[in-house]
Amino acid sequence: MKAGLVRRVGVLEIDEVPRPAVGDGEVLVRLRAAGLNRADIVVRDGLFAEQQPLPIILGVEGAGDVVEVGDGVTTLEPGQRVVLLPMLVCDSCDACRSGRDSACRSLRFLGEHTDGTYAEYIAVPARNAVPAPDSMSYTELAASLLAYMTAWHMLVTRGQLQAGETLLVVGAGSGVGSAAVQLASALGARVIATTGTEAKREKLCAIGASEVVNYCDVADFSSTVRALTDGRGADLVHDAVGGATIQRSIQSLRHGGRLIGMGSHSGPHADILLYSLYRNEIDFRGAHAADSRELPDLLPMLCDGRLRPVIDSTFRLESAALAQQRLVSADRFGKVVVTID
Ligand SMILES: [Zn+2]
Repeated sequence: MKAGLVRRVGVLEIDEVPRPAVGDGEVLVRLRAAGLNRADIVVRDGLFAEQQPLPIILGVEGAGDVVEVGDGVTTLEPGQRVVLLPMLVCDSCDACRSGRDSACRSLRFLGEHTDGTYAEYIAVPARNAVPAPDSMSYTELAASLLAYMTAWHMLVTRGQLQAGETLLVVGAGSGVGSAAVQLASALGARVIATTGTEAKREKLCAIGASEVVNYCDVADFSSTVRALTDGRGADLVHDAVGGATIQRSIQSLRHGGRLIGMGSHSGPHADILLYSLYRNEIDFRGAHAADSRELPDLLPMLCDGRLRPVIDSTFRLESAALAQQRLVSADRFGKVVVTID
């Protein structure tokens, strides 16, 4: 089968590789689309500490059709359209039994710890193949589940966002950022979004942002957020940028506000003025991955169109290297997807 894989650090190749065999409890999926993530770049460049030894097929997200089921699989059958859940878990610990994948101590990911979705076929545990709504294309499916689940995990499960609250999304033009803007708006929050690209202003308003702050135009975006909230500050901040923005995210919050951090594209270390956390009794919470128990709340919002994935661009699998270039370009807005013929 055709696949996009890394044999040498830093080089993505498209080549023929053996089709994976389906094991007990697994299904074989003929993939039709794969969603790109920053993690793909990190793994390609050999910077992910836990990744499987090379070669590895990249790709965390994907959608396609079940073509074969392994022994013991009773929940799926060949021909079903599915979208893949990228979290691989032990399925037997207390956390897994209650659907809290993020708390499983054996948590691993497709495309990082095992072969991923830049491929014609993938074998995954049956629990990782989620029956998909017919209303969405393969491209939309491959672009949606992880971004919205991550946003849900950050905003709802970890952030306890309530209708009527004010949310600040820092770095709103990314896949997860744009999903967070849409989700929070659909849940009845007021959303202030930051971006560094003026062309993204209208796009962010179109998906639910009430106000957009171009951080290149202001000395300190937290001052703008305070001005927009009559000096009070936001109730919740969603920060997926990291070290470059975390201090200003803290300063954007009201007394007792919540800061949810996940991802650190701008660097893994942060210089935080502790006094700004303590004096304002800020609740700083981390978030990692997402939980399968969040799916029943999220899927109906995807099925009925309340959430519509923002697709920046699509490329054929053969052009996956170009797709990765697009992923890291400054004017990208939303998800980049490769389609698989
Ligand atoms: Zn587990």
